[in-house]
Amino acid sequence: MNRKDFLQSLAILPLSSLAMQLSELEQMSASFKNTPKMPVLFLGHGSPMNAIEENEFVKGFRNSVKGIPKPAAILCISAHWETKGTFVTAMQKPSTIHDFGGFPKALFDVQYPAPGSPELAQLTKSIVKKTAVGLDEKWGLDHGAWSVIKHMYPLADVPIIQMSLDYYQTPQYHYELAKELAVLRTKGVLIIGSGNMVHNLGMIAWDKMNADNFAFDWAAEANDKMKKFILANDHKSLINFRSQGKAFDLAIPSPEHYLPLIYTLALKEENEKISFFNDKAVAGSLTMTSVKIDKV
Ligand code: ZN
Repeated sequence: MNRKDFLQSLAILPLSSLAMQLSELEQMSASFKNTPKMPVLFLGHGSPMNAIEENEFVKGFRNSVKGIPKPAAILCISAHWETKGTFVTAMQKPSTIHDFGGFPKALFDVQYPAPGSPELAQLTKSIVKKTAVGLDEKWGLDHGAWSVIKHMYPLADVPIIQMSLDYYQTPQYHYELAKELAVLRTKGVLIIGSGNMVHNLGMIAWDKMNADNFAFDWAAEANDKMKKFILANDHKSLINFRSQGKAFDLAIPSPEHYLPLIYTLALKEENEKISFFNDKAVAGSLTMTSVKIDKV
């Protein structure tokens, strides 16, 4: 649309609607000024108990944001929100969702009252061209988001929105969709993928829950290969994870915990560096390996 068409389209809008649109635009640009490029994270969230325990993984989450400017907002792609179509949470006050069972009451008592950001939801909707992003008023923050972010921003003073995973789409689709979010990195937005690279709950070694860094051979093999592909910027092999053999098939029995990694990697630019942290296995069939993408 050229300038003349744009002005004409404004002219046919009722005045009240025009005023509203302009004030929304003003609000949006006021909330999200240009900033130096923010890093991007993939966090292996593991057990929901990490939310209330003090352990090396929690320290890793905390350290991952040390030294970076406080974000204007966070956009989190969590393994635990799958939908038909793509949605972002758009409410002012997202509730803390306890989307698990069989854990102690102390975990259900946790509230993480970070505000939402209807402005970021709207901005995200407006920059994504690949699909029509829906504005959701019902979800909130699931434990893929709050169980890790609470360690990074314990005051719950950074607004958060979640973006859902469309379970009808291919990994390639998710990769391309994620690329459209790149501009948010220069608007002070910290983008976090939250899942687990290796995640097979059906094969958990319950007797090795407390062993340090215990991985089944296939889990170690898959995790090592994933790290090699990540360091080599071989995103194609990671997107085609179903063609990587048995270790990958066991590591990724269903894609929801793996896909947030694809979102994170899609946002890496050529001159940026990768670092790993929390690079350990838990109970044989789960890895906590987390990724930070940042300027050199
Ligand atoms: Zn999970």
